[in-house]
Amino acid sequence: MTFKNLQLNSAMLRAVKRVGYNKPTPIQVRAIPHILNGRDIVGCAQTGSGKTAAFALPIVQMLEQARGLRRIRALVLAPTRELAAQIDEEFGKFGREKSLRHVAIFGGVGQQPQVSALKRGVDIVVATPGRLLDLMDQGFIRLDQIEFFVLDEADRMLDMGFIHDVKRIIRRLPKLRQTMLFSATMPPTVQDLSRSILIDPIKVEANPQSTTVDTIAQSLYFVERSEKRALLKHILRDAASEKVLVFTRTKHRANNLAKQLNRARIPAEAIHGNKSQTARTKALEQFKSGHTAVLVATDIAARGLDIDAVSHVINFDLPNLPESYVHRIGRTARAGASGAAFSFCDIDERKYLNGIEELIRQPIPVVADHPYISAIDPPQAKSPARKPPRANRRRRSRRSRRAS
Ligand code: AMP
Repeated sequence: MTFKNLQLNSAMLRAVKRVGYNKPTPIQVRAIPHILNGRDIVGCAQTGSGKTAAFALPIVQMLEQARGLRRIRALVLAPTRELAAQIDEEFGKFGREKSLRHVAIFGGVGQQPQVSALKRGVDIVVATPGRLLDLMDQGFIRLDQIEFFVLDEADRMLDMGFIHDVKRIIRRLPKLRQTMLFSATMPPTVQDLSRSILIDPIKVEANPQSTTVDTIAQSLYFVERSEKRALLKHILRDAASEKVLVFTRTKHRANNLAKQLNRARIPAEAIHGNKSQTARTKALEQFKSGHTAVLVATDIAARGLDIDAVSHVINFDLPNLPESYVHRIGRTARAGASGAAFSFCDIDERKYLNGIEELIRQPIPVVADHPYISAIDPPQAKSPARKPPRANRRRRSRRSRRAS
């Protein structure tokens, strides 16, 4: 399949060539023709699947085809500032210079440059809900001419408590519009929301929510909580020159860990919701450019981050939501590259491990020969042949019943 098969016009084909996309990703193949046909879309896709271009390319094409007076005609809502900035950048790559104008609207920075951009006139607004509502309330933004509305990372948006803000924004949109909702997971709350804002949508799926990318080598380290830091340093000695994204459960643990690593002369930065936008952007830039080898993040801060060539994802703490595991490890092995995901599991995290293995329907291979192996549960820790997750167990027992 090529981009030419997707009903994109010559300007868009030149744009994808210019940015170096040789071949459409699965979500692009599935979504672009339907969007160009004017259909509402509900897309189950993770960041890393190429979903931004899946909606940005057809939106830019349609906006350019029917140009009129400059007004806000496309609105993309994203849960985090970083994601809004990334999406805005992607629009910048595809729109022809001087033809379409776009702006990212998010909090944590002064509103004046955003207001000035709005006053000059824009076609596309990419925003987080809070600042958008602020500027709407101040009269700087009107949404009554919106033709295209994208709700990105809908599941995270709801997890972060934005449902009322999102609903307030949607009430201000024209009824007649094309709507696209993207979400990594489809819990009932997201399904309810999509039923209320989409009309006869086409469902497009790139990564079913329980699958993990095949190119990611996953490993599990059983370790006592108090030894996790030593184990991390031990691993980083090997991987120190590469880009390593480490996840902790809390902001406090992210801060402490980054400090400890720096003390051990491993350049590290922490990124989480308590940091100012400037500090977050700086930490991200330092990591992207390779100045810091290790970025320590919490789930919310890392959600949707588009960082090239992350070589390792390390779950310093296992996530309590199994879907977050899939999401976290999806930060590596992006756009066809390979990657590794290491997960540390202490005795209290066993319950989370079970949930993860049930979701991904496979046991994570155990590293049985590291120096900090947990003494809490040696028989299971040392044996790679742990009980398979429940989904497999059921399948196996059915199979053996059939065989007998
Ligand atoms: P996204 O899922 O939209 O965050 O995209 C993840 C990364 O894949 C971004 O760095 C995009 O620039 C890149 N990307 C998107 N589409 C393609 C494509 N067709 N070929 C190669 N890279 C792509």
